[in-house]
Amino acid sequence: MDRDAILLTPGPLTTTLRTKLAMLRDWGSWDAEFNALTAEVRSLLLAIAHAQDTHVVVPLQGSGTFSVEAAVATLVPRDGHILVLDNGAYCKRLGRLATLMGRRTTIAAHAEDAPVSADALDARLRDDPSITHVGVIHCETGTGVLNPLQAVSEVCERHGKGLIVDAMSSFAALEIDARRVRFDALVAASGKCLEGVPGMGFVFIRKAVLDACAGRSHSLAMDLHDQHVYMEKTGQWRFTPPTHVVAALAEAIRQFIEAGGQPARLARYTDNCRTLIDGMAELGFKPFLRSELQAPIIVTFHAPASPHYDFKKFYLAVKQRGFILYPGKLTQVETFRVGCIGAIGRNEMQQAVNAVADALRDLDIATN
Ligand SMILES: *Cc1c(COP(=O)(O)O)cnc(C)c1O
Repeated sequence: MDRDAILLTPGPLTTTLRTKLAMLRDWGSWDAEFNALTAEVRSLLLAIAHAQDTHVVVPLQGSGTFSVEAAVATLVPRDGHILVLDNGAYCKRLGRLATLMGRRTTIAAHAEDAPVSADALDARLRDDPSITHVGVIHCETGTGVLNPLQAVSEVCERHGKGLIVDAMSSFAALEIDARRVRFDALVAASGKCLEGVPGMGFVFIRKAVLDACAGRSHSLAMDLHDQHVYMEKTGQWRFTPPTHVVAALAEAIRQFIEAGGQPARLARYTDNCRTLIDGMAELGFKPFLRSELQAPIIVTFHAPASPHYDFKKFYLAVKQRGFILYPGKLTQVETFRVGCIGAIGRNEMQQAVNAVADALRDLDIATN
């Protein structure tokens, strides 16, 4: 079939033709045209987060994790102490990268099928004054659970702690208003809910803490303060920019705005999520999370108990029908995940459910 499969994954995502076509050019990294593109993207990103007055936004080459790593490296002093609120795989990644770069790291373990607790954080911060920063994942993509960003940020503000938010899978879909949620750094990337292509992340850094970040990073490439200072001075990226990714992101954001911005994106993804969960329920699939905890980003389903079920075979059978699923990330229970994000709507979700139904029939998998 000479058509790309629909990506039901948390990035890369299915993109529009307009976004793909924006990449069919070569840009010089020093050229004024490309610098203008970078400036446009930065200014649009600040507007999406309502952060023009309070934050700067610093783009960085690489996948989203590179930007999470850079945020920790740039924000947390080398003798600082970061508390990571852990309810899933991406939280564990944050804890691990902070540990590896030599920052004192404490993990606050939570169950994977529940949000992290702002009350427990409050008690923890009262008990341990050595903690300087808190790390939280807004939507934990490992399961799809939504964490209470507003409540966590209020606790951090009350205790005078810096907050680093991985909003990779939620930014542009769920509301994040920097005028109401206080964070020192918030990280997202090109290839998630803005529906660009993967290859760059960006970090909103609170202006009030920016100057103090100078020289904190142990890494040249991961130093967001340095990247910011250079970009402000020259309009350029410090090192080779991902030119095609920036061009695609600019085009993706223009479409995002034309379609109605964050509320419209949330409405489409919510509809996708409902279509998926309802359709899968008719086939006998149960979501891993209680519905009130489910963000409309990615859904974890329990795998069928049938002895005929094998994720790899199931995956291939669904792929043959044009849809790419995502493996589960839980160790205790057998699951798989289906993303609701990307340039897709209700029709694609319904077709995905049909593809799953056909795959079950092919593989003789009973679901109840
Ligand atoms: C996608 C994602 C990341 C970044 O993953 P990469 O593979 O490095 O792009 C980080 N955190 C969350 C919550 C994500 O969904």
